[in-house]
Amino acid sequence: MEKKEGAHHGAHVLVVPYPLQGHINPVLQFSKRLLIKGGIKVTLAVTTSFFKKSIQAQTGPIRIETFSDGYDDGFQNEDSLEDYFESLKKVGSKTLTQLIKKHQSLGDPISCVVYDPFLSWALDVAKHFNLIAAAFFTQSLAVNSIYYYVQRGLLTVPIVPGNVISVAGLPPLTISDLPSFVSRYGLYPAILTLVTSQFSNIDKADCLLFNSFDKLEQEEMNWMAKQWSVKTIGPTLPSIYLDKRVEGDEDYGFNLFKPSADVCMNWLNMRETGSVVYVSFGSIAELGDEQMNELALCLKETNNYFLWVVRKSEENKLPSNFVVETLEKGLVVTWCPQLEVLSHKAVGCFVTHCGLNSTLESLSLGVPMVGLPQWTDQTTNAKYIEDVWGMGLKVKVNEKGIAIKEEIEACIMEVMEGEKGKGIRENAINWKELAKEAVDEGGSSDKNIEDFVALICHAEFKVCVT
Ligand code: UDP
Repeated sequence: MEKKEGAHHGAHVLVVPYPLQGHINPVLQFSKRLLIKGGIKVTLAVTTSFFKKSIQAQTGPIRIETFSDGYDDGFQNEDSLEDYFESLKKVGSKTLTQLIKKHQSLGDPISCVVYDPFLSWALDVAKHFNLIAAAFFTQSLAVNSIYYYVQRGLLTVPIVPGNVISVAGLPPLTISDLPSFVSRYGLYPAILTLVTSQFSNIDKADCLLFNSFDKLEQEEMNWMAKQWSVKTIGPTLPSIYLDKRVEGDEDYGFNLFKPSADVCMNWLNMRETGSVVYVSFGSIAELGDEQMNELALCLKETNNYFLWVVRKSEENKLPSNFVVETLEKGLVVTWCPQLEVLSHKAVGCFVTHCGLNSTLESLSLGVPMVGLPQWTDQTTNAKYIEDVWGMGLKVKVNEKGIAIKEEIEACIMEVMEGEKGKGIRENAINWKELAKEAVDEGGSSDKNIEDFVALICHAEFKVCVT
């Protein structure tokens, strides 16, 4: 794509993600799209502790700077989340302020802050300097509408089981469709406070950005747009997997784990089209021993080949001898190049925890899903995958919350070969087209990014002439 060099007035955007893999990837991709619109400088500010943990940080022209969250040597198991969030806010506000001041004094001032609303205090810091500020949400519009309802008292927690839950712009929901921090009220109080506090000061934000696209969440978008200036700018996969307009944009470039790339791709190259079940639960979710065992039994007994990502910290839960006993049909790795895997023709379905990135990646690459949501927003994403987007099936769980091997197997079979699965496979092709269309030239997300650039450059221009 032609880079519009110098087309704007030198806006300098400071991007402040929440320090998790699934939060950094989308905002980094958004930053790359800002850069190609021309004349904009982007600096990515990550916490020192996160930066130290990352094994790859290749962000091209995007400069990386660090600020302290008070935990520069990392978060230890014995540390409490409450203490961490408090320190992140207290120390983070101070160190982010210092970073902005440093740029001012160097004659390289920041004009706009794009912040992850899990760090709602970053909006206060930005407004203290009178900067343009945009919240960049890494969970869906649907999920955030639910958090907004809770924050404003429009949805009373704890939720009474059995009631149908109505949230504007969303289909009717049951308690199990809600994000776990809401449905399992009291289990993660610190995180519920974090996700609802995204809306505590949101009216001060100039714009709300979402990693989604208009056709994916049209009703949700229509409702939100009545309250704020909302722009969908996704899906934020590297351009090579969508419109191919951003030169050199082939991967996310910021990784916590090293993928077994060659092993996975060589193994997939030996498989027939649509014959492999790809299984992964993302970077955080931990399966209980019983769930791990059911899944392992299912994969061992299924007729399909499988590629299963079991992170190092989860490996000890695998049944003994599993890897050896399934060598003929399975490959187990600790991390894989997921985008390359999902776009490989051998992959016929994705057994996923339904994290938003994985969901959008699968949808954009046309791979039907079998949802095994574990917690956080994954439960709501799974509802959308099955009932709203028709992109997959959610596995039924028993009274203990476990998806038994027969249920997982039935969903895999249906999605890969069944009659209902036929509609799902057709929808998958359709969503792949729509995702590409959204980010391609003139698509809804592309236009929204243009509008956002105009907003920040206009503000920059006003600062220059006053
Ligand atoms: N991912 C990957 N290799 C793996 C598993 C996951 O590169 O083996 C990437 C995946 O492509 C996605 C991210 O890690 O971009 C996981 O984000 P998601 O929102 O799906 O889940 P989270 O890790 O935040 O729970």
